[in-house]
Amino acid sequence: MPFNSTQSLLDYDREHIWHPYTSIQNPLPVYAVESASGVTIKLADGRELIDGMSSWWAAVHGYNHPVLNQALKQQLQSMSHVMFGGLTHRPAVELAKKLIDLTAEPLQYVFFADSGSVAVEVAIKMAVQYAYAQGNTSKQKLLTVRSGYHGDTLGGMSVCDPLNGMHSMFNDILPQQIFAPQPECSEDGLTNINELEALLNKHQDEICAVIIEPLVQGAGGMCFYCAQYLQQLRGLCDQYNVLLILDEIATGFGRTGTLFAYEQAGIVPDILCLGKALTGGYMTLAATLSSKKVVDGISADGSGVLMHGPTFMANPLACAVANASIELLLSSSWQNKVTQIELQLYKELEPCRSLPAIKEVRVKGAIGVVELYQPVNMAVLQTAFVDQGVWIRPFNKLVYIMPPFIIQPDELSRLTNAIYKVLQADTITK
Ligand code: PMP
Repeated sequence: MPFNSTQSLLDYDREHIWHPYTSIQNPLPVYAVESASGVTIKLADGRELIDGMSSWWAAVHGYNHPVLNQALKQQLQSMSHVMFGGLTHRPAVELAKKLIDLTAEPLQYVFFADSGSVAVEVAIKMAVQYAYAQGNTSKQKLLTVRSGYHGDTLGGMSVCDPLNGMHSMFNDILPQQIFAPQPECSEDGLTNINELEALLNKHQDEICAVIIEPLVQGAGGMCFYCAQYLQQLRGLCDQYNVLLILDEIATGFGRTGTLFAYEQAGIVPDILCLGKALTGGYMTLAATLSSKKVVDGISADGSGVLMHGPTFMANPLACAVANASIELLLSSSWQNKVTQIELQLYKELEPCRSLPAIKEVRVKGAIGVVELYQPVNMAVLQTAFVDQGVWIRPFNKLVYIMPPFIIQPDELSRLTNAIYKVLQADTITK
């Protein structure tokens, strides 16, 4: 059946295809994309939108980048994929070395996963296997904080915020984890970590690891917290003999102003999850890194086998583009760009505070968040943003942007102006 018009594509899509977190029977309209280049997404109807989302934290170099395109073309000529069981290849080995060199010294081992959620599953399995191999068979639970988000597979969901909506209907089949309050920090550096410590103390015989997104809680609410909390958390994990898993799938590769957010706290996790911007947003790939302590612990039963091995593990195309993306990032003045974006976001989102619907404005690195008092009316807001020539996808009470690092000041102003203009209207909430 030929799709000889954009409308025929949209019609088939509407009838048959699930979109993320969307009703299949009564979906909001989607927009057909013709192409994307730099920070511009071109719709099939010819409209051009400035991208504020980096395709959910991933496309840090923008779209259709010649260097990344070339890396993929070159890799295609040798192979697009081979199984990773019993075989290896240069793109994977080079990428492993890059990740090991870039991250903190204790992180020396890499597991390649095929998505962020799978990287989290692997991290959880590592922690459980670690405890198990040491004879701590009762230590099977994870401790985490509220308002977190770690993916949509069952293990990842089990450590997402249990209440904030996304996964509540699965609670009965999810592993029951332990939740501390969302991190809070006062101006003078005091934190609410004592509540987490009380849980750690009470359940220390059940907990194998703490999992947390460092400094920025993403899809669970776009909340920021202080480095002191992470420092205290690292201390507690050591004191209570539990592993610390940092989920940097969203924050990794420069987004918060340092290459990895944990650097701002001067701490090192036992297990680190990376994804999203790892391939510059080109392909799905993620990685779970771990320290020698974890590897030795898992190997204590004599096997050292980790029970995981996805079909597309270490896909050579994805590894090749990840290698090129990391080189591109490191050879660019990314830190300067992120600082410039941060300063501009502070300045240009500030006026939103005066709008009646707005509860809070917050900025960290190349992330700008405007929180409303009420959930937004998606149908109204999405159309209004597209009419303004920008791609911004709000959720719940949040309008937020994390643009590609290559965005120019005038393009960023288009995004911030659109936010101010659209949020002025009184039809924006439900
Ligand atoms: N962890 C965090 C912190 C994330 O932001 C996400 C994706 N939104 C995931 C895990 C899951 O990654 P993926 O969507 O690639 O499975």
